[in-house]
Amino acid sequence: MRGRNEDQLIPLIEFAGARDLILRFIELMPVSTTDVLDEDNFMSILEAKRTIESFYGSLMPETGFRTNGPAAYYQIPGRKQRIGFIGAMTNLHFCESCNKLRLTCDGKLRPCLGSYLEFDIMKPLRAGATDEELKQFFLDVVERKPAQHDFRDNYQPNRKMIAIGG
Ligand code: SF4
Repeated sequence: MRGRNEDQLIPLIEFAGARDLILRFIELMPVSTTDVLDEDNFMSILEAKRTIESFYGSLMPETGFRTNGPAAYYQIPGRKQRIGFIGAMTNLHFCESCNKLRLTCDGKLRPCLGSYLEFDIMKPLRAGATDEELKQFFLDVVERKPAQHDFRDNYQPNRKMIAIGG
């Protein structure tokens, strides 16, 4: 966050490098609350990358390296250290390859973290749904996955992240 911990970008990379860890930076999203996110403190991955490159030199894209998440990875020049960037707010293609569903503690399937859509799986379970019917339920929810999140449209979270599942 700008003005809060942007001075930790380089120390964090050094910390991860010394321990052979892959570090990922993610843009702040209105996931649990909107109180801490505004135009003054939001820092884009582009800006973070520029700061990092002014210290280490141009980062080298590793387009072939993927993990389960949506991060884009880069090598630090002159090192065997890899860092990732998750542009949740500024990358308009961010959700394109998402395959996630979340199950809340009260039995709702959420096809997207940044959408109000929820589907009650307790109803079919309590009605004695067969495995085949439950499979179809899941497939229907996947079908309803939005093309992208609503975080850029003044999204007001209706659940805290801890009540959604990460
Ligand atoms: S579709 Fe929703 S859950 Fe998937 S990456 Fe986008 S914001 Fe996250």
